[in-house]
Amino acid sequence: MSAAGFTVSYLGTGSGGSTLRGHTAMVLHCPDGERILLDAASGNTVLRHGEQLGISPTDYDHCLLSHSHPDHCEGLPHIEMIRSRRNPEERPMQVHGSERAMADIATLLAYPTRGLSVAADGVRRRDGRLVFNLRPADPGQWVQLTPTVRAKCAPVDHIGGAMAWRVESGGQSIVFSGDTRWCPSLAELAQGATLLIHEALCVEAERSRAEATAHSTAAEAARIAQLAGVGSLTLTHIDNAYHLDTGPLETEARSVYDGPVSVAADCWQQPV
Ligand SMILES: [Zn+2]
Ligand SMILES: [Zn+2]
Repeated sequence: MSAAGFTVSYLGTGSGGSTLRGHTAMVLHCPDGERILLDAASGNTVLRHGEQLGISPTDYDHCLLSHSHPDHCEGLPHIEMIRSRRNPEERPMQVHGSERAMADIATLLAYPTRGLSVAADGVRRRDGRLVFNLRPADPGQWVQLTPTVRAKCAPVDHIGGAMAWRVESGGQSIVFSGDTRWCPSLAELAQGATLLIHEALCVEAERSRAEATAHSTAAEAARIAQLAGVGSLTLTHIDNAYHLDTGPLETEARSVYDGPVSVAADCWQQPV
């Protein structure tokens, strides 16, 4: 772990259509030791890759969700199951996202054979214990997650209710784009951030693919990094076509953005 600042553990770094990587999720290890989950991937990606890195789902109580596409949030009930098994007294997980995302998550969690019931005050197991609070976030408003960690979101251009998140602690800041087309409001949210984690589906030569699915190219991600003057850029949400050779994404981003560029991989831990 980075002594002075954040460390990011990338648990899933694949695009929605990826069959070679886990879907999107990461854990932020904050400067004061707090851990925050950013997106929840699908299936057991967060649990499986977390296990490899020594990260238990009982290590974090807050999850920030970018949007309600299943590749970013479908892992939540699986995470809850293991949290409850490992610690039956576990505090409810605080899930933050747009109002639309929270409504969609409620539908996901209410699946009949899951044994969860969704009510206005939260989501309960059969024994009545509260396991989730769903917290709709106001764009632009800081949410104090712990005494030393705060976060705020801003709308991006992908599906209804899609958000990017900025997390700040110990004088550092990390911004995660979620899924989005080129989106100027993201440059505003990312202004001066220590690290921007931005999705990149493909390179400019294939931009029609990014346009058709409301995603960004590596150059577009880099333009946001350049405009916002961030300290470094990490590309994620990687498609099968770039799984083995991420070089074209990295080279394109470097031609637009002056700072350091990395491409995330599953189970990579990045000191910030
Ligand atoms: Zn996605
Ligand atoms: Zn999406």
